[in-house]
Amino acid sequence: MPIYEYVCSDCGLKFELLRPLSQANQGASCPRCHNSAERILSTFASFSKSDSGLTTPIAGTASSCGSCSATSCGSCSL
Ligand SMILES: [Zn+2]
Repeated sequence: MPIYEYVCSDCGLKFELLRPLSQANQGASCPRCHNSAERILSTFASFSKSDSGLTTPIAGTASSCGSCSATSCGSCSL
């Protein structure tokens, strides 16, 4: 499945979701505040895989968490 990037319209958190194409245009809910998030269209496949298999953050992502995938980790919490 392709990975899509979303940005929360409320708190501004950016996150990625693995979804089937059929759901790509559906809204997603923010993992931090659970409000609606909108898909970011222009950054498909801009992520990269590190040697360890972890996805690396997208450069320039306006997230408070700069060292992980910005979905959930100890340094991402509010
Ligand atoms: Zn949010």
